[in-house]
Amino acid sequence: MTFSAVIVAAGSGTRAGPGQAKQWRLVAGKPVLRWSVEAFLAAGASEIVIVTSEDGELALPETLGGLSGWRSAPGGATRALSVRSGLAALSDRPADEPVLVHDAARPFLTRGAIDGLLAALAEADGAIPALPVADTLKRAEPGADLMTTSRDNLWRAQTPQAFRRDKLLAAYAAWTGATEPTDDAQVVEAIGGRVAIAPGDPLLMKLTYPEDFAMAERLAGAARITRVGQGFDAHRWGPGESVSLCGVEIAHDETLIGHSDADAGLHALTDALLGAIGEGDIGDHFPPTDPQWKGAASDKFLIHAADLVRAKGGVIVNVDVTLICERPKIKPHRAAMRERLAEILSLPLDRVSVKATTTEKMGFTGRGEGLAAQAVVSVETPA
Ligand code: MG
Repeated sequence: MTFSAVIVAAGSGTRAGPGQAKQWRLVAGKPVLRWSVEAFLAAGASEIVIVTSEDGELALPETLGGLSGWRSAPGGATRALSVRSGLAALSDRPADEPVLVHDAARPFLTRGAIDGLLAALAEADGAIPALPVADTLKRAEPGADLMTTSRDNLWRAQTPQAFRRDKLLAAYAAWTGATEPTDDAQVVEAIGGRVAIAPGDPLLMKLTYPEDFAMAERLAGAARITRVGQGFDAHRWGPGESVSLCGVEIAHDETLIGHSDADAGLHALTDALLGAIGEGDIGDHFPPTDPQWKGAASDKFLIHAADLVRAKGGVIVNVDVTLICERPKIKPHRAAMRERLAEILSLPLDRVSVKATTTEKMGFTGRGEGLAAQAVVSVETPA
């Protein structure tokens, strides 16, 4: 199901301590805001509007470098005004398409939380993730004795909160409350809209106080999953004077035959990346029947696969390529191949491996009919 998202990132967040506002601070090396943008993109958001201050707008290109599908809108003096600004910046979409409104200070948004909201929204005008109150509640009023209050039927509302677009727009247009709404569901409740409760997630905690950032660092790992992909490719030897392997041109008395430059190392690695994120194979993205890929340098294919990983909010952890041939000797070129792969993928050298082996003169590689390559990659993406 398509949906759009508004992320409110306009606050100055002074309770989180001195320094940058919390949406720009790093958790596990990544800006807090970026966590949510990546999660929405991975879940298939059709568009994302980020509501932020003038300073924030200047920081967005660097904070969200490499991500597309977002734009910014100016923040207002209050949260409600900021949400209104974000809603106004959304493009025209079907009236019943869901809009998810999210606070940037809740970075650990998961696909499961988004899917749960969209499912709950099918039966309502709005849906919010909420957790039942588990702690005992006390009321302490000045000059009065401490009172224990029932926690029955009390819920802690989180974000993102999902709404039918028309209902949310109508609710904000009608909001005349003297006080500020503390969330968007309150505005929809005020026009008699039905708001359903979807399962909340402790990981959707709001980063408010300095100590929250310490906990967030520990939780950061829990909101990510590790994926593995493998790829295999082989090409036949034919007449030629050089061969391209792992992006490095090597002088040789034969070349590999193929539609593109036949760089089996890059092809196997591209397939491994596509496999890790469930995006089919190299032939799906670059059909051999398409004349534009004739003789193409295969680094294009690998860059495309790496971009797809990043678009899913993924990070390539490491890659490992094995070339299988009797000739040419790979060892003298291994360092150059590693460096080239690290350059194409923007990875540190120690996360890139190139190995080579023979098959002891057995099989098609052993007989010198062709060269084969295998690759394995590890990728981290939002859960
Ligand atoms: Mg190939």
